[in-house]
Amino acid sequence: MNRAVNLLQFDKAGLVEWLGLAGHKAFRARQLMHWVHQRGVADFEAMTDLARPLRAWLEQGACVQALPVLSEQRSRDGTVKWLFDVGAGNAVESVFIPEVSRNTLCVSSQAGCAMACSFCSTGAQGFARNLESSEILAQLWWAEFTMRRELGLPKGERAISNVVMMGMGEPLQNYGALIPALRVMLDDDAYGLSRRRVTVSTSGVVPMIDRLAADCPVALAVSLHAPNDALRDQLVPLNRKYPLAELLAACERYLAHAPRDFITFEYCMLDGVNDGPEQARQLIELMRGRFPWKCNLIPFNPFPGSGLRRSPPQRVAAFASMLIEAGIVATVRKTRGDDIDAACGQLAGEVLDRTTRRAGRVVAIAASDAAPAANQERSA
Ligand code: SAH
Ligand code: SF4
Repeated sequence: MNRAVNLLQFDKAGLVEWLGLAGHKAFRARQLMHWVHQRGVADFEAMTDLARPLRAWLEQGACVQALPVLSEQRSRDGTVKWLFDVGAGNAVESVFIPEVSRNTLCVSSQAGCAMACSFCSTGAQGFARNLESSEILAQLWWAEFTMRRELGLPKGERAISNVVMMGMGEPLQNYGALIPALRVMLDDDAYGLSRRRVTVSTSGVVPMIDRLAADCPVALAVSLHAPNDALRDQLVPLNRKYPLAELLAACERYLAHAPRDFITFEYCMLDGVNDGPEQARQLIELMRGRFPWKCNLIPFNPFPGSGLRRSPPQRVAAFASMLIEAGIVATVRKTRGDDIDAACGQLAGEVLDRTTRRAGRVVAIAASDAAPAANQERSA
C-alpha cells in the first residue's frame, strides 16, 4: 500500500500549507496543480519546471493516486460509467454524459448513503463511508483525462464542462471533504469551472445549505419529490428532521449567495405516488410567491426490489403542463445511459450482495450476478 501523500487531496490552500511545512515556496502549489489537474500528469519527473530537489522530494513522499477502475461501461448514447474501487469491498460510480453543448460528469460523494430515500438504489444499500476529497477529485481527474484522450481534444481543451454532485451519496453529509474538492473544481489553476457549472444536489440538509452559501456557493439542486410534508416524510426520511418550511427557507437564504438566480428542484416521478394533478396543484400552491425556481421532473428509474413504478409519459407531461401553465419553468430530464444502469438513482446496484443489502449494509463486490436481475426488472 502506498503511504505517500496523495496530492489529489489538496485544494490550493492545503497544498501551499503542506509544501510550506517542508520549506517549499507557495508558487510551487500553482505549478503542481497545473501539472496534475490541467495536464493530467502523475509522474513528478515529467514536471520539468519544478526544481530538481523538489521533484526528488515529491518522488519520495508524494503521489498522484487515482482510484482503481473495476469496470468501464459504455452506453449506446455515448454515456460512460466507471465503477471505482474504494476499498473494503466498496465501490462508487461516476457517469460521463456527453451533450451537444456540454459534457457533464456526475460524481459520487459517499460509498452508499444513509438517507434511505425509498426510490433510490444507493439509499437501499445503506451507508458504508464518506469519500475523502482525494476520492471525489480522483473521479473527475480520471474522467477528464480519459475522455480528453479518447475524444482526441486539442491540448488544453477540457473534456468536462459541468460537474454535478448527483452520484452516490448525500454530498452535504460529507461536507468536510466536499468543500476542498469543490474548490479544486473551481480553481483557475486546476479545472477552472465556473460556479454555475458545478452543482451540488441535496436531499435537504438544512444547516449545511447555509454553510455552503458561506463557504463555496455553487449551483444548488434540491431533491424535493413531494409537495407536502406527509408524503415527503415517506419518500425522503430526512424531511422528518428538516421539514419543507425549513428547507424552503434555507433555499431562499441560499439564493442571496447563489451563482444562479433560481433554485432547481428535482422531482422524481413515481407512478400513482406523487405524480397526479392534485400533487401538481399542491406544488404550485406551496411555491406561490416564494422565490424563483425551476422544476426538473425525473422519470423514476426502477431497480430491483423498489416496489415503485415509473410514471407513464402522459402523466409526466400532464404534470409538467400544469406547472408551465402556472408560469413555472419545468423540464423533464432525459434518461441517459439506462442500458448500462447509469441513470439517476441506479448507481451502485451492481456492487451488492443481496443478502446483506436487506440488512442495510454495503458489502463485497458481487458484480456478476446482480446485473441480469437489474436488467430484467427494468424491462418488466
Ligand atoms: N443525495 C443527493 C444527490 C444524489 S441523488 C440527492 O438526493 O439530491 C441525485 C438525484 O437522483 C436526486 O434528485 C435523487 O432524488 C434522484 N434519484 C434517486 N433515485 C432515483 C431513481 N431511482 N430514479 C430517478 N431519480 C432518482
Ligand atoms: Fe441518498 Fe440522494 Fe439516494 Fe436519497 S436520493 S438515498 S439522499 S443518494
